[in-house]
Amino acid sequence: MSLFFRRLRFLLALLFICLVTAYSLSRLGYFEWPRDYDPLALPDLDAAPNFLTPFKLKLVDSAAENCRAAFARAGKVVTIEPAQIASALCSREDTIKLGSLSTATLRVEETRCAIAARLFMWEHNVVQPAARKFFNEPVAEILHFGSYSCRTIRGSSAASEHATANAFDISGFRLRSGKRVTLRQQWQGSQPPAEFLREVRDGACDYFNVVLSPDYNADHHDHLHVDMGWYRTCR
Ligand SMILES: [Zn+2]
Repeated sequence: MSLFFRRLRFLLALLFICLVTAYSLSRLGYFEWPRDYDPLALPDLDAAPNFLTPFKLKLVDSAAENCRAAFARAGKVVTIEPAQIASALCSREDTIKLGSLSTATLRVEETRCAIAARLFMWEHNVVQPAARKFFNEPVAEILHFGSYSCRTIRGSSAASEHATANAFDISGFRLRSGKRVTLRQQWQGSQPPAEFLREVRDGACDYFNVVLSPDYNADHHDHLHVDMGWYRTCR
């Protein structure tokens, strides 16, 4: 090994030891480690995402109480609903009734808190900035087809993520002026509404494991499906 790499290795090891020592001292209360860069701190749902956001969202997913606390930090009081087991396939656990995000409202819908937290971050960090960029006004309402639905994936015997409220179908957006932007009517083309819809679809992929748009298949011609199933796809 050349002298250069030996020195580089030494410097990296030193940096690592310094970081671990500093982090340990901050956990002991000697100084405040920035929350955004603390992998053991709940995410601020209204903060810009960074490389630690996926880890912080794992904390939200690990316990409903963590999810409730993350919403409380963002100034929203949410209540975890009692578990409802409908059948072997269909159940609702760790759900909340969601009627508003950081700015936009939505028709009240029960969904898993982990989905709601991601919808909040996506709306705050992706949807509203895109609306200001393309329309110069905010989104007032997220239009949707709901979350919980006791059913299998179309054309398959496997349970849909909707069967556990672990998914959400977004059909469009109502802007403050009243103008509507819907996937059914405005996905095609290169006009600002189409560009806006593609930008919010792409941005959703940073938060959800699965994002399916009209680009995926005809079943999704009129909505954006997002879920936290086990595999990842963004189409
Ligand atoms: Zn769906």
